[in-house]
Amino acid sequence: MLKLSPVMLIVALVLTACATSPTGRSQLMLMPEAQINQMGLQAFENIKKQTPVEQDAKSNQYVNCVAQSITREVIGRWEVVLFKDDSANAFALPGGKIGVNTGMLKVARNQHQLAAVIGHEVAHVLAKHSNERVSQQFAVEQGLGLVNAIANTQTATGQTLMGLLGVGAQYGILLPYSRIQESEADRLGLDLMAKAGFDPTESVNLWRNMSAAGTGQPPEFLSTHPSHSTRIRDLQAHMLVASQLQKAAQQQGKRPACD
Ligand SMILES: [Zn+2]
Repeated sequence: MLKLSPVMLIVALVLTACATSPTGRSQLMLMPEAQINQMGLQAFENIKKQTPVEQDAKSNQYVNCVAQSITREVIGRWEVVLFKDDSANAFALPGGKIGVNTGMLKVARNQHQLAAVIGHEVAHVLAKHSNERVSQQFAVEQGLGLVNAIANTQTATGQTLMGLLGVGAQYGILLPYSRIQESEADRLGLDLMAKAGFDPTESVNLWRNMSAAGTGQPPEFLSTHPSHSTRIRDLQAHMLVASQLQKAAQQQGKRPACD
């Protein structure tokens, strides 16, 4: 019987990882970047077809101000849309799309808390979590087919893909991010909001509001971003670093005033 020594096993794993594209892990378990971005754009189109956009100028200005302060800190072009929907939810999609529901504004009660939500969401995109999730479920060769499939939300595959991108609520497909992905998004998101000049300590209040709102019917956001007992402790453990980032940002004149 062939028995691999630990060293051989590591060599084998590294060789497999090396079979991926120069940009990363794509060939092994990830979709090509262009395809996952296309899927994100299509998912956003699907949502726009089903959900009315909030027309109130003041709310739009507020959400845009917070979102732009965050996205200014990352590369790429981002579009943000405020949807008229009472459920407390927000999402970001590969391809640079951010959606916030009006219902979220009742849970995220000030600009810092909304920045915590948007920072967390953008962090999921930057860490390529959708790509990871889709890749775990489907083979890479299916990529182009999946781009077409997500356009067809009548089909089970189309709906599953919406769920994997974190926006399947309308189809009853709520696929929570893993705890590892949540921690990653918390950490990255905290840094991101701080670098934009927002108060990182408000992230803790945001998650407290979220759990409090969850005593009746849990907010949609918590279904895809499950709370775990260590979330707040982990955020607090990273708070000193984040506060220093905020201080540095403010010294550069980044003092968002969106409220
Ligand atoms: Zn999350």
